[in-house]
Amino acid sequence: DASAHFRVRLATLGTRYVLLLADDHTEAFRLDEVRRDFVANVSHELKTPIAAVGLLAEALDQAADEPVQVRRFADRLMGESRRLARLTQEIIELSRLQAQEALATPELVDVDAVVADAIEQNHVVAAAAGISIVVGKKTGALVYGEQPLLVMAVHNLVANAVNYSSNGSRVGVGVRRHKGAVEITVTDQGVGIPEVDLDRVFERFFRVDDARARNTGGTGLGLAIVKHVVQNHGGDVRVWSQLGSGSTFTIRVPEAPLPLTPPPTASAAT
Ligand code: ADP
Repeated sequence: DASAHFRVRLATLGTRYVLLLADDHTEAFRLDEVRRDFVANVSHELKTPIAAVGLLAEALDQAADEPVQVRRFADRLMGESRRLARLTQEIIELSRLQAQEALATPELVDVDAVVADAIEQNHVVAAAAGISIVVGKKTGALVYGEQPLLVMAVHNLVANAVNYSSNGSRVGVGVRRHKGAVEITVTDQGVGIPEVDLDRVFERFFRVDDARARNTGGTGLGLAIVKHVVQNHGGDVRVWSQLGSGSTFTIRVPEAPLPLTPPPTASAAT
């Protein structure tokens, strides 16, 4: 629904003109809708794994005398429950971010350290697929924000880059200071994203290929979380992609002005 909601007021200007003032309430209506849609989306997304857990538990019960079958169903049950755990955690994270207007406890954050943490978290999965993560030079860049949220955002981008790449390829992560902002870029040589879907990948629960994403454990929430974290930091996130050759995601956040007394993180980075 793209309709607009305005509150209209009249004001006079001298004796000859009447001014029509229209306050745009569209945003408030939209947010309300976003919240209602979110609950509907979440219920829908939870239904499938919950049903699967029920069916697998039944199958397990009936296969009690066949060890091979028990093993198979137990494995799938564990997989579904891991997926459910991840899904609920991301739902909680996203709803918190959607409700939050300002950052709770902003502090100076060392961006090089954020990138290092995010890469470290993806190290094992990348290594298992023979994917090398190549990181650029340290920059000493600082932003105001919440370190755990920024790590989560970069982690999600790196995890996707690894997840949507073929074995043995490279993922590049770089930081640069540019025009008063800090840019974090994650590049992969993976499957890429069709042009028609580029605008939609940041929507919650959107997946380019539903079946494939489900198999890889994708929830469709990773990029929605990235978008909200970055917006809460006064920044933005963009994507470039070419189907079949790879994708580049760039997070941009305003750079913190250099403090008079550098905090320990700043001196450690130089
Ligand atoms: P998911 O948990 O499914 O990965 P995301 O919100 O992180 O959810 O991403 C949404 C969709 O965007 C994914 O399902 C995938 O189709 C696509 N996508 C995200 N990152 C990449 C990437 N680096 N390369 C190719 N496709 C991607």
